[in-house]
Amino acid sequence: MSDKSKSELDGFLIIDVPALHRQPIVIDTALSREWLAGVMANCEYPVTAGTGHCRLRAESAADGVRIRGDIRAEAFAECVTCLEPVTLHLHADVDVFMAPVATLKESGEELTPEDLEREYFEGDIIHLSNVVSDGILLELPINPRCEGPCHNLPGLVTSDEVARRNFSIDPRLKALADIKISKEN
Ligand SMILES: [Zn+2]
Repeated sequence: MSDKSKSELDGFLIIDVPALHRQPIVIDTALSREWLAGVMANCEYPVTAGTGHCRLRAESAADGVRIRGDIRAEAFAECVTCLEPVTLHLHADVDVFMAPVATLKESGEELTPEDLEREYFEGDIIHLSNVVSDGILLELPINPRCEGPCHNLPGLVTSDEVARRNFSIDPRLKALADIKISKEN
């Protein structure tokens, strides 16, 4: 995706800070498949974007802007184990505090836990596209799995490995398997 089309697509996720000082701003909007596809292109495995929606409410706080809301998106991937198609229902809660970049502490100044959690904006416009895209990317599972038997397997296991685990016996246990228990005992 070119920078131009990316910024055009991001245009619906901006907040005008002077307007926000007058009243809270709510962004309640569908996330286009095209926009979601651009976000999901950063995923480590192939994933196809479905529908999405975000509802964010921004309000002016003492020394910045608080943004709360939720993001929902649908994505289609392959189960890492059986390779069957999987529909992922992503749901991210958003609670972000953004402060003017002028309040950013100089290096060397002591940072509080709050400082580490806040994000910064510059000028009169807050771009929320990163907040929304990060929320979506963090909700994508590391290993997408179908709802079937693969669902409860720990770690990254292929269906071949599942079959091997079920049919092979650990050599250390082989000796035990060879012991015959007589009925007389
Ligand atoms: Zn599966």
